[in-house]
Amino acid sequence: MRDFKRLCSIALLIVFSFSYAQKNAIVAHRGAWKKNNLPENSIAALRHAIDLKLPGSEFDVWRTADDSLVINHDAHYNKLLIEETKYADLIRFKLSNGEKLPTLCEYISEGKKNNKKTLLVCEIKPSEISKERGQKTALMAVEVVKKLKADKNTCYISFDYEILKAIRKVDPKTSLQYLEGNKSPKEVKADKINGVDYHYSVFQKHPEWIKEAEDNKIILNAWTVNEATDMDWLIAHKFNYITTNEPELLSERLKFKK
Ligand code: MG
Repeated sequence: MRDFKRLCSIALLIVFSFSYAQKNAIVAHRGAWKKNNLPENSIAALRHAIDLKLPGSEFDVWRTADDSLVINHDAHYNKLLIEETKYADLIRFKLSNGEKLPTLCEYISEGKKNNKKTLLVCEIKPSEISKERGQKTALMAVEVVKKLKADKNTCYISFDYEILKAIRKVDPKTSLQYLEGNKSPKEVKADKINGVDYHYSVFQKHPEWIKEAEDNKIILNAWTVNEATDMDWLIAHKFNYITTNEPELLSERLKFKK
């Protein structure tokens, strides 16, 4: 039994080292939607990111008034505040490609199909009703991901630090990246958060955080990087992930640098 446990911890270490060791891995921001004019956060945009074999695809999670977890960027969907609207009332409106507003369950299920490369980067939106509601949404999302056995292929990001801490309490292993840009890599490490995913300008203001993150094995990710010059700066600084609306352009820049 002890040997088995030791083997498991070695395997976990390898998984973590592998995910940490990625350099300049492309994350499609709200899926790969732009080039093909797909709706952001649609199943089609996720599918395209997976078909492009991108290392990551990001999406945003809200909870409806009647506790459905749905994928949308804004707090509103067709002028309805998602947190105050029932799921059945939201899905009366289709996305621009005819898709139904996806649930987290549908989104993750699609994310598991024919997918060997693409990490599902799950952003939990802070609640506009209360901090507690946001944390409950996060824990419900973790449950869905675990139930679908997608936890090894999913990481969580949030602007709300308490949401990430709430996830860490129930899941000691999952990868967590903080978005707000107001904490140093050492500070997040102290709270067992293993990544910083900040606007790229934050790292230009705090270049010392890049080395601090590397020294502390904190994942470096930057958003939302759409210009070639900014991409080149992050590539040169060997960020683990780069989140972009322009995965095709970033892919070109990466080829150019080789
Ligand atoms: Mg997002």
